[in-house]
Amino acid sequence: MKIIKNSLEGIKVAAEILKDNGVVAFPTETVYGLGANACSKEAVTKVYTIKKRPSFNPLIIHVSSYEMAKEYGVFNDLAKKLTQKYWPGPLTIVVEKKKSDIVEAATASLETIALRCPSNIIALDLIRELNKPIAAPSANISGRLTCTNPEDVSGKLKSRIDALVDGGKSELGLESTVVDCSVETPCILRLGNITVEEINSSLGYKIVPNFQTESRVKSPGQLLKHYSPDAELYLNQNQPSAGDIFLSFGPHPKAIDGLTLSESRNLEEAAKNLFTFLHTLDRLSKARGGVPIKVASIPSNGVGAAINDRLQRAAEK
Ligand code: AMP
Ligand code: MG
Repeated sequence: MKIIKNSLEGIKVAAEILKDNGVVAFPTETVYGLGANACSKEAVTKVYTIKKRPSFNPLIIHVSSYEMAKEYGVFNDLAKKLTQKYWPGPLTIVVEKKKSDIVEAATASLETIALRCPSNIIALDLIRELNKPIAAPSANISGRLTCTNPEDVSGKLKSRIDALVDGGKSELGLESTVVDCSVETPCILRLGNITVEEINSSLGYKIVPNFQTESRVKSPGQLLKHYSPDAELYLNQNQPSAGDIFLSFGPHPKAIDGLTLSESRNLEEAAKNLFTFLHTLDRLSKARGGVPIKVASIPSNGVGAAINDRLQRAAEK
């Protein structure tokens, strides 16, 4: 795996690898993505193989502008309104798919397509330089912990991918909010930094979250078990004992191993740290023979709802 520095020259090198049907991990403002040219069957197939991702699980297609997105999806009023408000940014919308040169495998042959225009400059420059949409799921093995820094991507994927663009730690730390605009009753398929409350207040009406029922999985991010570390996770643990590994929220208790998601109980900071710290504590657990990780309660207001969503799925057995 080649490590590519963030520079104009670096972006060109990464785009060349994508043009040659290679797979490149790259930063976005949410989490690291595992990118492939969405119009190359060979490249998209590699992404599924590298991630051990089931072929029925479609990829998010990353574009550099709304104009580019319109070539691939049909934007109804809701989709237009949401993209005007939140793009570029951490919002993915699912819309009706247009016929295009994006390969069928990238959208798991669905009639719909998930599109996002990220705000991260490296991601945008890479899409522009490739001059094609980039199909990119999160850069991790399917169902396992998400990676939000280059070291964790490298630790998990270096023997499997062609290159990694180093963009430092992800700014937000949680995957994008996914809204399905393709159905009669639009719904939120995945929680993220843009909260349900924000979406509803910018639309002036309520759209229903539908991210918890396993019986109607439309988006595999909805699977009850997801985002899993190797260690067992115990949630809502507020009284750790000596010998525990503890992921706290607020000041970290003295003489207990672990980390605090946010000393000042800031939920955005906690979201940003969540996956990086879970990777760190998972390594500590392994070094100590598989001690479980205890996690403090996190308030579920604002982005706390998305943090708790990830933690619950990560703790699922
Ligand atoms: P990730 O693989 O972590 O990047 O997550 C991408 C999410 O977007 C997954 O939960 C996918 O199932 C979801 N997704 C992509 N395309 C669609 C689609 N057409 N309809 C519904 N969900 C989708
Ligand atoms: Mg993922």
